[in-house]
Amino acid sequence: MPFSHLSQKLDTLKKQGLYRSRRNIDSPQGIHLQLEGKSVVNFCSNDYLGLANHPAVVQAFKDAADNYGVGSGSAHLICGHSTAHHALEEELAAFTGRERALLFSTGYMANIGAINALVGRGDSVFEDRLNHASLLDGGLSSGAKFKRYAHADTAHLDKLLAQAIGNKLIVTDGIFSMDGDFAPLPELAAVAKKQAAWLMVDDAHGLGVFGHHGGGLLAHYGLTQDDVPVLMGTLGKGFGTFGAFVAGSELLIETLIQAARTYIYTTALPAAVAESTRASLKIVTGENWRREKLTALVNQFRAGAGQLGLQLFPSASPIQPIMVGTAQQATDLSQALLNAGFLVSAIRPPTVPQGSARLRVTFSALHEEWHVERLLAALEKLST
Ligand SMILES: *Cc1c(COP(=O)(O)O)cnc(C)c1O
Repeated sequence: MPFSHLSQKLDTLKKQGLYRSRRNIDSPQGIHLQLEGKSVVNFCSNDYLGLANHPAVVQAFKDAADNYGVGSGSAHLICGHSTAHHALEEELAAFTGRERALLFSTGYMANIGAINALVGRGDSVFEDRLNHASLLDGGLSSGAKFKRYAHADTAHLDKLLAQAIGNKLIVTDGIFSMDGDFAPLPELAAVAKKQAAWLMVDDAHGLGVFGHHGGGLLAHYGLTQDDVPVLMGTLGKGFGTFGAFVAGSELLIETLIQAARTYIYTTALPAAVAESTRASLKIVTGENWRREKLTALVNQFRAGAGQLGLQLFPSASPIQPIMVGTAQQATDLSQALLNAGFLVSAIRPPTVPQGSARLRVTFSALHEEWHVERLLAALEKLST
């Protein structure tokens, strides 16, 4: 039988506690989700600022659908680039303090497209070993010499760079998506300068959440376009909508328009999504209370989890993993929390290294203190 090995592979995944499955959600994104007939408290979304179902964001989407319809009709370079997309690009450039910004349909495609447009055979790309899958895939598919450096280890990176060939691109998550810690961006920028390499930062989890007016991790550290020539951001997380962008110099953006295949050969995201993101950007920049609230919730959680003796990660972000160990243990704990009314995802290999399966707790500005108290109480019950 052709493909009979596939069912064996699936069986193996099931036995190892690595099988992945979806859950049907029957409500808008928010703190409370309707999950297959049951109301649960949501601790696994990346909608950190609570904007995915914000009335102004939803209204902007509806109004724009009236003006533009739903489909964008084609790629940006054919006839899919609307004034809504263009206005959002200009606002994102101003927001990030870069010359220009270019919208991509997803963050995955932005990373694949940007890395492949910048390096190829005869060049070198350097990636933190804990980088997001899309960055690793971008580096691997580029044809450039691919080197992973030890997590956040700038000395190791510096050594590898000294032996590099061709154009050199350093690529890192800003905030590591499964660990929650910050990349040492000022040190990385210094190494990049010293070695005449370009630095690309994926700030999917920092934009909107950190920095003055939510400008992200680069704003937090005061790093300019000169320090970090390639900034990638996603719009489906802190911004609560969908899509992604790359920001940088005129030269960078024009290069991407000519050469990034995941930009050229894909349909533009709907103009209504761009308009709703413009509404969300106003809230991101204007409402500092959302960031302050997140900080308070994270501090409350870390203090409480520490008292329970749970193994936390060195994270100051709304991503607060709890180390568990095996994939099966993490899956069981996630299921037990679900039975108690809390949705917390288990993160297992190969997303994280073997033996470091974990619960990934994330916070939203819409959580209240009592949500955190109840989650801690449930964790206490399950861990004793
Ligand atoms: C989510 C994420 C992406 C992918 O973005 P999408 O818009 O969801 O495709 C890329 N990089 C990091 C670090 C992410 O967390």
